[in-house]
Amino acid sequence: MSDYDYIIVGSGSAGCIVANRLSADPDCRVLLLEAGGHDRNFWLKLPVGYFKAIYDPRFSRVFETEPSEGDGHRGIAWPRGRIVGGSSSINGLVYIRGQHEDFDDWQSLGAKGWSYEDILPHFRRLENFQGGEDRYHGRNGELPVSTLRNDNAACRAWVEAAQQYGLPANGDFNGETTHGVGAYHLSIGRRFRASAAAAFLRPALKRPNLTLITKALVSRVEIEHGRATGVTWSREGQSHSARSRCEVILCAGALQTPQILQLSGIGPEALLKEHGIPIVAVSPEVGENLQDHYQIRLLLKLNQKISLNDDVRNPLKLAKMGLDWLAKGTGPLTVGAGQVGGGACTRYAADGRPDIQFNVMPLSVDKPGTPLHRYSGFTASFWQCHPESRGAVHIQSPDPARQPRIAPNYLSTALDRAVMVDGVRILRDIHEQKAFRPLWDRENVIGADRQSDAQILDAIRTQGGTVFHPVGTCRMGSDAGAVLDPQLRVRGVEALRVIDASVMPKITSANTNAATLMIADKGAGMILKDARRNASAPEERL
Ligand SMILES: Cc1cc2nc3c(=O)[nH]c(=O)nc-3n(C[C@H](O)[C@H](O)[C@H](O)COP(=O)(O)OP(=O)(O)OC[C@H]3O[C@@H](n4cnc5c(N)ncnc54)[C@H](O)[C@@H]3O)c2cc1C
Repeated sequence: MSDYDYIIVGSGSAGCIVANRLSADPDCRVLLLEAGGHDRNFWLKLPVGYFKAIYDPRFSRVFETEPSEGDGHRGIAWPRGRIVGGSSSINGLVYIRGQHEDFDDWQSLGAKGWSYEDILPHFRRLENFQGGEDRYHGRNGELPVSTLRNDNAACRAWVEAAQQYGLPANGDFNGETTHGVGAYHLSIGRRFRASAAAAFLRPALKRPNLTLITKALVSRVEIEHGRATGVTWSREGQSHSARSRCEVILCAGALQTPQILQLSGIGPEALLKEHGIPIVAVSPEVGENLQDHYQIRLLLKLNQKISLNDDVRNPLKLAKMGLDWLAKGTGPLTVGAGQVGGGACTRYAADGRPDIQFNVMPLSVDKPGTPLHRYSGFTASFWQCHPESRGAVHIQSPDPARQPRIAPNYLSTALDRAVMVDGVRILRDIHEQKAFRPLWDRENVIGADRQSDAQILDAIRTQGGTVFHPVGTCRMGSDAGAVLDPQLRVRGVEALRVIDASVMPKITSANTNAATLMIADKGAGMILKDARRNASAPEERL
C-alpha cells in the first residue's frame, strides 16, 4: 500500500485546484483519484462542445432525481462530469461569482471568514481576466476569464428590450452588482474551454510529487481511532487502498461527497443503520440541505433568420464560424450555455437584490445534447436566485457504484412558486418591448395560451428543469449540526476535509462554478496553514 501526505478524491472544479496548491511544495506527496477518464476529447475543449458533451456517458454520469410535485412528478436527469476536470469539463462556461450578499449570507449562517470581503481576494487571485485588473478582477491567476466574443442581433435586441422594460445595463456581473442586463463572462482561453483541469491540473501534473489515477471509484475513507488514514477504491474490478499521512480531502461534488461520507460511516444514524454501515460519527445533516436552481425556458420562434438554428444549416455561415474560431477565437463556437442575461427583481425581492437570473441564447433545442430546432429559435430562461426549497442525498445501498437517492424537492415553498410565476411575467414583458417584439412571432414554450398563475405554474412544473447547480449537502457552519466547521473540517473525524460545492450553506444566486473554484482556493490555503502550524509545533499533533 502506498503512502501520501494528502489524498484528494475527485478531480473536478475543486479537486484540480486543491491538487495544484498542495503539490506546489515538492516535499509533499499528493494522490488525486478520479472516477472518470482523461479529458482529451475535442468536444471537451471546444466551448460550444458543451451541447455535445453534457449527456455523453463517456464524459458525464447522469443521475436521476426522485419525482416530486414540484417537477410535475417527472424526476429530472442531473448530469455531472465524470472525467478529469469533473463538471468544469462539461459545464456551460458561464463565469459569474454571485451577489456580494450571497457570501455575507454564508457568514451570517455561521461560515465565519467567508464574507464577500473575505473571499474577494481568492476570486481575484484565481483569474486572468481579459478585461484587465481592478478592485474586482485579477490578471495573474491561472484561469482565463473572457468577455463575450460573439455578437448576435437577437441577443442585442433582447438586452435593449430589457432596458426598455426598466433594467439597468450591466457591463460586469462580477463587479459591483449582478443587477441589470448585459453579456456574461466565460471561462475560456484564446480558443478552448478553460476547465479546472486545463487551468490548474495540467500544469501541476508535471510535478513528480503529484499522482493522478483515473477510473478509480473511491468507495470509502478509512478511519482509525477517529482519524482519516486513507481511502479505498476500485479500478478495473480490483480493490486498492492508499494511506494518507496528513489529510484526506473529499472533492467529489455535492452528490458523491455525501455519498462517500455516508458509506464511510459518517451521516444520519438511522440511514447508516438501515444499510448496515458501521457508524463512525453521527452527523445528521450529511446529505441534507440540497439546493439547486430550477429553471424555466421560454422558446420563441423568430421571424428573421438570425438564430444559430439557421446559421448551422447554412454551409457558408458554418465555414465562417469555423474560421472565426480558428483565426480569431471569436464567434458562436466560443459560446457555452449562456450569452447574455442578468439579474432582476420580482415583486418578492427584498432590498433591491435580484431574485431571478436570466440566461439568453440565440438558439433553441429540446434539451442540451439534442439537435437544434429547424425553426429560427431563441431561448430566454431564468431561475430563482435564492430558493427556499431544500432536498437531500441519501445512499440507497452500500454499493458505491449505485447512485444515491436524490430528492431536490423543487418548488416546495409558496415563495419559490410565486417567484417563478412572477419571473415568467417579467420575461414576457421584456419580450413585448419595442426593441424585441418585431423579431418574433410565437412563444412555442411555454405557450402564449398559458396566462393565468395556475397555468404558468403548471408549465413551470412540467417543463422546467435543473441548471445543474446542486450544492449544500455538507454545509459548513459554526453550529453543532453543521457537517463541517468553517475551516471545512468534517466534525467528528480528524484529518478529513470537504472542499467542493457541497460545503455551501446556501446556494449562490448565480451559476456555481466560480464560487466552487473560490472555495477550493481558500480551502487549500487552510490546509497549508494548518500544515505549517503543525510543522512549527509538532507536539500539538500528539
Ligand atoms: C452540464 C453542466 C453545466 C453547468 N454549467 C455551468 C456554467 O455555465 N457556469 C457555472 O458556473 N457552473 C455551471 N455548472 C456547475 C458547475 O460546473 C459545478 O457547480 C462545479 O463544477 C462543481 O464542482 P465540484 O468540484 O463540486 O464537483 P465536480 O466538478 O462535479 O467534480 C467532482 C469530481 O469527483 C469525481 N468523483 C465523484 N465521485 C467519485 C468517487 N467516488 N471516486 C472518485 N472520483 C469521484 C467526479 O467524477 C468528478 O470529476 C454546470 C454543471 C453541469 C454539470
